Amino acid sequence: MYIFKRNKDLTLYLDQKKKEGKIIGYVPTMGALHEGHMSLINKSQSMSDITCCGIFVNPTQFNDPSDLEKYPVTIEADIKLLMEHKCDVLYLPTFEEVYPEGADWENPYDFGPMFNMMEGATRPGHFNGVVQVVKRLLDLVQPHKLIMGQKDYQQFSIINKLLELESSSIELVMGETIREDSGLAMSSRNRRLLSSDRSYALMLFKTLDYIKENISTMDICELKKLAQKMLTGERFQLEYVDIVDGGTLLPISEFEGHESVVACIACYVGKVRLIDNFVLK
Ligand code: AMP
Repeated sequence: MYIFKRNKDLTLYLDQKKKEGKIIGYVPTMGALHEGHMSLINKSQSMSDITCCGIFVNPTQFNDPSDLEKYPVTIEADIKLLMEHKCDVLYLPTFEEVYPEGADWENPYDFGPMFNMMEGATRPGHFNGVVQVVKRLLDLVQPHKLIMGQKDYQQFSIINKLLELESSSIELVMGETIREDSGLAMSSRNRRLLSSDRSYALMLFKTLDYIKENISTMDICELKKLAQKMLTGERFQLEYVDIVDGGTLLPISEFEGHESVVACIACYVGKVRLIDNFVLK
């Protein structure tokens, strides 16, 4: 596996591969890699010739400085895992490579209401940072395919919109959420969970499962209240349970009449903020 820390080395390599007609798949991450990330690597490998994984913990998308400080960094293990999965390229830039002119940035795009709900409402500035870094990284890597997880459904929708706004030819591909046997969605943040909190963390999955079981028969407002109750207690600090249209991400009041419906949860378990979602339709 090639590891590139400098943009110019990465682009030199990728430009050559593109000239040879190779399809480039790109999997951007913030590291602390797990099997969820690896499923995206596998997906990329199944549809491209060269798979490039990016690891960059982007400070501009962290609204909480202590969250950034505590974000797990496991670069040696990440490299080992990527090599085991036969990833072709790791792009591992420094802050200066990504933001040579500093990180000040004015978001020129209008994403509409989807930008300001759920994660947008509870983590002010988060999506500005996400769009800033993804735009910058895509301009550098210029992949044919961009592979991102359903785990971050709202992020996926916003990047989808970004590509649309830019009339980009990059194909955005969704990878399903990989879970532990218990059902807990894999996440870099799970490493920070106290072992005694794992059963509480599993309640996100159980609540989503409860919503899925009852969505077609129960009033949505009532169902949301019951879901909120399931995530109440000393170890929980619920940020939101929302049932939204899968396209607009606007909350819905009726299950029928929507092509796609997604239930989304963000909740602190102890000091760790977890998110998860189920596509219900
Ligand atoms: P992160 O490193 O958390 O920023 O995530 C990098 C990419 O991996 C994003 O596209 C995520 O949606 C995706 N991802 C994170 N967790 C999982 C998971 N459990 N299963 C599949 N993809 C995931």
